[in-house]
Amino acid sequence: MTPGEGDVWFLPLGGTGEIGMNLNLYGHNGRWLMVDCGITFAGEHEPGPHIQMPDPRFIASRRAELSALIITHAHEDHIGAVAHLWRQLRCPVYTTAFAAEILRRKLAEAGLLSRVPLHIVAPGTRHQLDVFDVDWVSITHSTPQTQALVIRTPPATIFHTADWKIDSQPVVGEAFHPPRFHALGQEGVTAMVCDSTNAMEEGHSVSEGELYQGLFDLVNQAPARVVVACFGSNVARLHTLSRVAEDTGRYAALLGRSLQNFHSAAVAASVWESGRRFINPADLGYLPPQEVLAIATGSQGEPRAALDRLASDTHPHLNLRPDDTVIFSSRVIPGNEHAVQRLTRRLQRLGVKLISAEELNIPIHASGHPGADDLEQLYQWVRPEVAIPVHGEAAHMRANAKIAQRVGVPRQMVGTNGDLFMLAPQRGIRRQAAANGRLGLDKNNLVQVHLNLGST
Ligand SMILES: [Zn+2]
Ligand SMILES: [Zn+2]
Repeated sequence: MTPGEGDVWFLPLGGTGEIGMNLNLYGHNGRWLMVDCGITFAGEHEPGPHIQMPDPRFIASRRAELSALIITHAHEDHIGAVAHLWRQLRCPVYTTAFAAEILRRKLAEAGLLSRVPLHIVAPGTRHQLDVFDVDWVSITHSTPQTQALVIRTPPATIFHTADWKIDSQPVVGEAFHPPRFHALGQEGVTAMVCDSTNAMEEGHSVSEGELYQGLFDLVNQAPARVVVACFGSNVARLHTLSRVAEDTGRYAALLGRSLQNFHSAAVAASVWESGRRFINPADLGYLPPQEVLAIATGSQGEPRAALDRLASDTHPHLNLRPDDTVIFSSRVIPGNEHAVQRLTRRLQRLGVKLISAEELNIPIHASGHPGADDLEQLYQWVRPEVAIPVHGEAAHMRANAKIAQRVGVPRQMVGTNGDLFMLAPQRGIRRQAAANGRLGLDKNNLVQVHLNLGST
C-alpha cells in the first residue's frame, strides 16, 4: 500500500474515533508525512497499562518511506509518544521552540537526545519536506505556539487544523488572525482535517483573556491561603495567575513537577512574556496566609500530584487549614470523575473552601477547543471541498460533520483509526485499510493492549 504520484491520502492511526493519542499520516508519491505522535491515559476500568499510544506498525514496517514527523503542539496527546516510538520510526522531527523544549526533556529521559534529528521551525514559516510543501500557520489553542498546517502537493491541498479555538485575547502569543484563513479559502483547500472535541457544545469558546476578572475576584475575596489547580501546559493561565497574585498582594509559587517543567520550558523558549517570577515553594510556609497563592498540579485527582498531597496533608511545603480556599481553574476530563470526587471529598474533610469552574457564572476556565460557532466560522473562511472531522469520538465527529454540511462544505468524510481517506485522484474511504491498535507502557516496555471491543 504505497501512494502513487497522483494520490493524496490521509490515514489516521490514532485520535480519530477517540480523544487522545493522535497519530496522523499523509501519503503522496511514495512518501508519508506523520503529524503528531501522542499518548492517552487509560481510565480505571479500561484494559492495559495506564499510559497508552497508537500501534505504529503500519508505518514502522515501511519507515524508509516516512519523510518526517511534525509535532503541532506540546500537549501529551500530540507529543507524548515520540520518545517511546521513535526507535521504530527513526525520522527527523519538526516542531516549534516551545514543543521542542518539552520534547528535548522527554528524549533526554529516554536516552535519545543525541539520536533524534530535531528541527525547530519558526511559527508561520513554510518548508519543503520531501514531496510535501508545508506551511506552518499559527492558531490559538491552550498551549503556546500551536501550529495548524497547510500541506500542499500537486494533486491536493490539505488544511490540518490541529487543536484550535478562535481566541482574540490568548494572553500569550498572537491573537487568532482571520485573514490568514480567509486567504486559504481564496487559494482553495481540498480537505480540512479538523478538531471535533467541542463540536457538541453550542456557541463560541471562551477567550483565555476573559478569565482574569473571575480569578481576581475569587482570590481577592479569599481570607487566607489560595491554591489554584490548573493544567501545567497552559502557560497563558500561569501568566494570568501570576498577574492575579501581583494585583492581590500575594506571592505565587508553583507546586508540582509538571507545572515547573512547563514554566521553565516557557522561559527557555522565550514564550514567558511577563518576566514575573514565582517564589520557591519552600518559602510558602513562612508567609502570612493572605499573601499565599499556590498553583498546583493534580486537578484530575492524579495520585501523588501536589493537590493529592495537600489533600492528605503530606505536602512538604504547605498545610491547608479551614480558612483556605482551593479553586479548580480546570475541568474534569471524562474518565476522571471518580478520582476527582475522591480528591474533593478529602479536601472537604480538611475544611477548606472549594470552588470549581462549573459552579460559577463568571468563567475561570476556558477550553482550548472550538465550539459549534467557531467551527462554523472557520469552515466559512476556509471553504474546503471536503471536511474530515478528527480528534473526537464518533458523536463529536458526527456533530462536526453536520456543522460542515450546514455551512455548505460539499462533502464530509467520517471514519476511524485505520481507515484510508483517499482525497485524490478519486475520493473515498477504504475502511480498515491499515493495521492499527494500541500499545501500553508497562514499566519501560511496550506491550500490545487488547481492547474489549463491543463492551461499554
Ligand atoms: Zn489534542
Ligand atoms: Zn491540544
